Amino acid sequence: MILTIQPLKLTKPSPSPFHSIRTAIFCEKKAPFRRRKYNSSRRSVLKKTFIQEQVKFTAPVSDDPVVAIIGGGMSGLLCALFLEKRGVRSTVFDTGVHGLGGRMGTRIIDPSPLVFDHGAQFFTASDPVFAELVHDWSLKGLVQEWMGTIGELELGGQFTPLSSSSSRYVGVNGMRPLADSILSQTHMVDVVRPSWISKLEPFNGMWHLSENGKPRGQFDAIVIAHNGKCANRLLSASGLPLIARQMKRLELSSIWALLAAFDDPLPVPVDSSGSPFEGAFVKGIDSISWMGDNTKKISKAKDGGPYCWTFFSTAAFGKRNKVPQENIPTVTAERVKETMLEGVEAALGLSKSSLQRPCYTRLQLWGAALPTNTPGIPCIFDSEGRAGICGDWLLGSSLEAAALSGIALANQAGPLILSYIADYFTSGGSSPEEFSVGLHNEFQPLEGHDIGQFPGLESKEKIIEPQPV
Ligand SMILES: Cc1cc2nc3c(=O)[nH]c(=O)nc-3n(C[C@H](O)[C@H](O)[C@H](O)COP(=O)(O)OP(=O)(O)OC[C@H]3O[C@@H](n4cnc5c(N)ncnc54)[C@H](O)[C@@H]3O)c2cc1C
Repeated sequence: MILTIQPLKLTKPSPSPFHSIRTAIFCEKKAPFRRRKYNSSRRSVLKKTFIQEQVKFTAPVSDDPVVAIIGGGMSGLLCALFLEKRGVRSTVFDTGVHGLGGRMGTRIIDPSPLVFDHGAQFFTASDPVFAELVHDWSLKGLVQEWMGTIGELELGGQFTPLSSSSSRYVGVNGMRPLADSILSQTHMVDVVRPSWISKLEPFNGMWHLSENGKPRGQFDAIVIAHNGKCANRLLSASGLPLIARQMKRLELSSIWALLAAFDDPLPVPVDSSGSPFEGAFVKGIDSISWMGDNTKKISKAKDGGPYCWTFFSTAAFGKRNKVPQENIPTVTAERVKETMLEGVEAALGLSKSSLQRPCYTRLQLWGAALPTNTPGIPCIFDSEGRAGICGDWLLGSSLEAAALSGIALANQAGPLILSYIADYFTSGGSSPEEFSVGLHNEFQPLEGHDIGQFPGLESKEKIIEPQPV
């Protein structure tokens, strides 16, 4: 008998030689070990680790690599800025409808207009690299020192000013305008917003991004510059199990923000020079952890209202009253608002129901507000998967931490701030394992205020009594 071996007939011819090898990845969702066919190629060899398989890019990086940065908060913006300084192009994708910045949010309510920073309030700069950057922003008129008194306010109105060994900064017209300006002088960065990247797929040696089925381009490397549920979802079937595992370890607080405008100034304690405080960390009141006077801080209006205040709840209050942030039930909103206004009244030492009613309010829940644990490493980079993470949570809970993380992922500037992506590219990607970092670091709890860390802020031991009401 003669056996003839027939060549295998392909029903669909491969469009390129790279399509000839097919592998699969396991993705973790409802059915954790469901096998998914994947059009991977010789250039993107997938190797099984944990639940998902690890994507491994083996082909040399292109001569003119482009990085996709998913998230346009402080960390993502600085990653893009510092990649450009190393000659690497990037595209920043961000969900922001009104602008960039993420948790550096500023709300402008027309027609008055009322202006509120509803995320980050102010920041300090303790690291020399960040301080230099902030100095540059200050020269460009993007930030200014916040000279107003800030301190700690105890239940009943006892106010203790805080001194600061480093300057306190705010965005000149609020935090969001600063975020929107950070990339204004770049020429190697594209910004795409509003855009919500919903899928990352490794294919033919490149990362393919899409938004609800719509292709958003292909990139040599990706940077996840956001955290929380959204990042977990995006990473769950990405082929980056080590990165996904680190992200899943992150714990985040929830904080309510109440923006309130008043026709008359609030009766707040004054400092020794007779100036009312402009910001206070509130102690001993469950519903309030911070109150900040935007009108003094941003608008600098001396006379005439409305007077715009931002009140933040404690993380404990946020946790107990957590609801889906996109769909806050009206009864919850009303209860939270009233409880927070009562908290303000108690903090200021006012008699019950004597706080003037605000002429405008807006309530928001930051469902994923601030990290409560950290791996304490500037950034994470999986060189085999050509993917990195930056964000505040890697180092702390502040704008400075977010900035340093973005810079660290992009650049090399000092012992802490090591280079990953840019060095990896300039090395030609030849020995990727040398460039991986942070994939196995343990997490530690984070200390700080409910709204973050402010290195350089110290407490003065001088107590100032409340003003008679
Ligand atoms: C209530 C509150 C008060 C704070 N106060 C202060 C303060 O006074 N001082 C201080 O230093 N810090 C403060 N912080 C912390 C500070 O805001 C953060 O540390 C910092 O802004 C984090 O920056 P980031 O780039 O890591 O993340 P983010 O600012 O969260 O940026 C992530 C961005 O990614 C976007 N994104 C998410 N998923 C996707 C997707 N799939 N596709 C595209 N884009 C996506 C998000 O919309 C967001 O714009 C505060 C935070 C909160 C919540």
